[in-house]
Amino acid sequence: MANKLVITNGCLLTPMRQVEKGTVVIEDGLIKAVGAAGEVEIPPAGPEVTVIDAGGRYVAPGFIEGHVHGGGGGDVMDGQVASILTCGRRHAQGGVTAFLPTTLTAPQADIYKALEACEEAMETEYDGASVLGAHLEGPYFAASQAGAQNPAYLRHPEADDYLPLLERFPIIKKVTAAPELPGAMELGRELRRRRIVAAIGHTAGTYQDVVKAVENGYTHATHMFSAMSTIRREKAYRLAGVIEAVLELDELTTEIIADGHHLPPSLINLTLKAKSRERVCLTTDAMAAAGLGPGRYSLFGLDVIVEDDIPSEFEVRTRTGQPVAKLADRTAFASSVATMDQVVRTMVELVGLPLIEAVKMATMVPAAIHGWAAERGQLSPGLVGDVVILDQEVKVHYTIVRGRVVYKR
Ligand SMILES: [Zn+2]
Repeated sequence: MANKLVITNGCLLTPMRQVEKGTVVIEDGLIKAVGAAGEVEIPPAGPEVTVIDAGGRYVAPGFIEGHVHGGGGGDVMDGQVASILTCGRRHAQGGVTAFLPTTLTAPQADIYKALEACEEAMETEYDGASVLGAHLEGPYFAASQAGAQNPAYLRHPEADDYLPLLERFPIIKKVTAAPELPGAMELGRELRRRRIVAAIGHTAGTYQDVVKAVENGYTHATHMFSAMSTIRREKAYRLAGVIEAVLELDELTTEIIADGHHLPPSLINLTLKAKSRERVCLTTDAMAAAGLGPGRYSLFGLDVIVEDDIPSEFEVRTRTGQPVAKLADRTAFASSVATMDQVVRTMVELVGLPLIEAVKMATMVPAAIHGWAAERGQLSPGLVGDVVILDQEVKVHYTIVRGRVVYKR
């Protein structure tokens, strides 16, 4: 007997359009029908049919998160399956239905352990967001742009280092590297050949480095404005850096950490003006402390403090209850402690985007960037039955993964 989930009385954000009093039918984990009440045939009640009355709330595709290091106390670098599942459960509460656990710069043995855990998590049935693979963030980074990546373990991309890794772990779906490092172009071509998203990040490169990176397979830029070089002056000449290159080159997509701390609205708006909105996705880049509140934590050997402090010079005062993670000496942000609902809310409340546009940046756009548009990112028949039900304030009421409720407020 087919398992059916029916969502009625929702304001659907497909997110290409808004449909009032809409219905979504999910059958055996896939979306079967989407439309206004009269247009969709509702299956007759029966033991195999679950009906959720959305009560006029928004019904959107589940959020897709391509860059997350942890959540709810679960740290991807633990090398434990349980930690990844804890992370997936916590982020599901923020509306995430699919994610890429993301590694950090670390000794190779720890990266292997983390990836083994991801592999196992992908095979595990559980009540959280689907694990779609892994994102390797580092260790091929510029020392001057390490940010909260442990500088002790940075290295150059060498085939002897990354080929066995890529061979052993086909679950790697995205790799972030600094394009100016020796070997980075070979790495880009290898990733392109394997259809892995090649992203530039933690980079001190120049405009020309980024142009070359695009020629050699790089398509995405990790966390816009964070750990990226900018204009530098040599004698009388101004040289554009990575920030300017990402804004200027339409070929690159990017992501913004819209936790209300990393970037003020002006820089988010600048990114959206320079690049079409369809080329910019939202991310949390969250660490294990996401959803835990203020305190002291560790990010792979680096001390991190999570607190609520915002300098008065910052453009906006975010609402209380949105803490921020910093290195203990407060010189840099250390990942974030946000969840995706908070990030979408920031786009609406601080940046002034219509909700449907913010939802697009958390669903359709990341699906396209990661090559998953054929499976997810829209409310459309045939796609995976991943759905989130939200209220006006972007609070998550239900998270549904493959037609199964994994979180209910
Ligand atoms: Zn980073």
